[in-house]
Amino acid sequence: MSETHVIPLCIPNLSGQESKWVTEALATGFVSTAGPLIEEFETAFASYVGSRYAVACSSGTTAIHTALHVLGMGPGKEVATADFTFVASANPAIHLGASVSLVDSSRNDWCMDPSLLEDWLRKRARVGKLPDVLMPVHVLGQPADMNEIMRLASEFEIPVVEDAAESLGATVTSGGSCRQVGTFGEFGCFSFNGNKIMTTGGGGILVTDSEDLARKAKHLVNQAKVDAPGYLHDQAGYNYRMTNLVAALGLAQLERLNDFIEAKRSIADRYNTAFANLPVCLPPETAASYSTYWLYSLLCENELVRDDLVNRLNADKIQARLLWRPLHMQPYLTDAETVGGSISAELFSRGVSLPCSTQLTHQEQNRVIDTVKAFYQD
Ligand SMILES: *Cc1c(COP(=O)(O)O)cnc(C)c1O
Repeated sequence: MSETHVIPLCIPNLSGQESKWVTEALATGFVSTAGPLIEEFETAFASYVGSRYAVACSSGTTAIHTALHVLGMGPGKEVATADFTFVASANPAIHLGASVSLVDSSRNDWCMDPSLLEDWLRKRARVGKLPDVLMPVHVLGQPADMNEIMRLASEFEIPVVEDAAESLGATVTSGGSCRQVGTFGEFGCFSFNGNKIMTTGGGGILVTDSEDLARKAKHLVNQAKVDAPGYLHDQAGYNYRMTNLVAALGLAQLERLNDFIEAKRSIADRYNTAFANLPVCLPPETAASYSTYWLYSLLCENELVRDDLVNRLNADKIQARLLWRPLHMQPYLTDAETVGGSISAELFSRGVSLPCSTQLTHQEQNRVIDTVKAFYQD
């Protein structure tokens, strides 16, 4: 490859058994939402993260939608989620007619700040108006502080749905053992979109330890179809089930997930070492957490430097991207209650994501590193 090919930000790695699995699935004729691989994938996924049950869905967004529906979210209900996240964390609640409130991030892990959450919950408890669901988001591969968030959830008796879409495989040390993100709350939701750490093109899954919640979720994603002769449906369900073809891809990718995590962490290591003396803030990893560094991102001094750096990288044919505009700055969410908001605004104004595909070569990564270093030396 020439020295000047474009280095993509984060692309799928499909060089394993993916085509073999999909071809085999095609040969069986099971292409749709009936087929043996869906349950096989659910079982394998649940076992990987250490959950009792998994329900495979058409996307991470539909997994979140299903989880919130099962927990009764609708008009008059309130979901407290992270302010600093991708919009898909908030949209399902809104589609259900619930309101969202947006809790700012901590500087420590860029995820929902438990001390801010605690102050707010105490204030809300005094007026008798607690949110109905807490939805922390594990952003960019980095776990939220689930020990603290679960302590608050249990004190205030609020169910938790974890948006773990970006952080499959990340773990938190809790009570002396290591637990996967997504296994702390009533539900954990994951995404297999094209840019996620493992991908099925599009797809998602929810996990839970509750047989009852799993049964309800599975029912809902299958059009709420009752197992009886004739078309019998006991509520307005969704067509949110994963297909057999997608599950085939999922099984092939899951086999490689540990390798993907290792690759992401080693990319992060090389960047962190190379940038140690630059005036940037490196991505977080706390003592109790193990990040997958799904999307390697650092913080520049300010917005002007951020824009200059992104322009410089793009000019050198290196894809780089801004972090999310916080939800409280999204035009359709300006009415949402915002708890804090200055940290998320700062992450947005300073953050840049760098190329970190699992198949990124050292040579390519050196090109990124050289450009970033040259930018700061010029
Ligand atoms: C990707 C993502 C989702 C949605 O997953 P899709 O599979 O794209 O629907 C939800 N939340 C976060 C934080 C995400 O990054």
